[in-house]
Amino acid sequence: MKEVIQALARKKNAIILAHNYQPPEIQELADLCGDSLELSIRAAKTTADIIVFCGVHFMAETASILCPDKTVLLPNTDAGCPMADMVDPAALSARKKALGDIPVVTYVNSSAAVKAVSDICCTSANVIQVVNALDSDQILMTPDKNLAKYAAGHTDKKIHLWEGYCPFHNDLTPQDVAAAKQNHPEALFMAHPECPSEILAMADTIQSTSGMIQYAKTSSLHQFIIGTEIGLLHPIAKANPDKQFFAASTRMYCTDMKKISLADVKNSLETLDGEIRVTENIRKKALGAVQKMIDMT
Ligand code: SF4
Repeated sequence: MKEVIQALARKKNAIILAHNYQPPEIQELADLCGDSLELSIRAAKTTADIIVFCGVHFMAETASILCPDKTVLLPNTDAGCPMADMVDPAALSARKKALGDIPVVTYVNSSAAVKAVSDICCTSANVIQVVNALDSDQILMTPDKNLAKYAAGHTDKKIHLWEGYCPFHNDLTPQDVAAAKQNHPEALFMAHPECPSEILAMADTIQSTSGMIQYAKTSSLHQFIIGTEIGLLHPIAKANPDKQFFAASTRMYCTDMKKISLADVKNSLETLDGEIRVTENIRKKALGAVQKMIDMT
């Protein structure tokens, strides 16, 4: 199946991208693996006509925002993000207005329509840099309240929260982490900023998904407890074959991230079903927020 799909991709001049949380067989198929923004930026530089984005809906939208001339396919269009769905553009615009038109910093895990009414985007890796660079002493952050609290701990600015969260990161409890530490006393605990504050307080280091992979590479330690979605266990172990990685909780399993199968990818390439296209009006406005972040960081 892998060889059939890769031959099909070559024939159609397509590139296959996979997020770090995708199932191992999808990551092994892909031309590039990484976090969502990393993948979109790298895709924008390819000469491929078609981008097959193995991730969730907002990621394919971001690729479409950055690469309007390419066909972007999401092989299973049911793959969404519950956190991205916790904010809509009308409610966000109303809250911004009620707060006196302060700047809105939006996590890339959001729809194109929400990005379009935002001042700038951020990722979990650059959120502190983005917040501190803005010329305002008050900021509204959306949709992730945990990421916003993490940023609030690294700035003097007043951060207004949006009550969104990733159900799988938000569900990690101090008891889960304590049990993992007890089972693996030599291991270093890495947490993703989408985890609640009490989890971040227990972390030895706070990292984005790509940051975790890099951190493990340069660390002299050999065991790590991973406080993010368990799909990351595959690429982090592959990049560090002499080290051991343990899930902080096996409940950190995003069902949407596991919806795309090899058969979906093959079908999408054959039929071009699952095209994601952002309307030009929204795309231009959303690109402003994404591009501002890229230029700043
Ligand atoms: S892991 Fe969380 S933030 Fe990522 S796609 Fe799944 S629900 Fe959304």
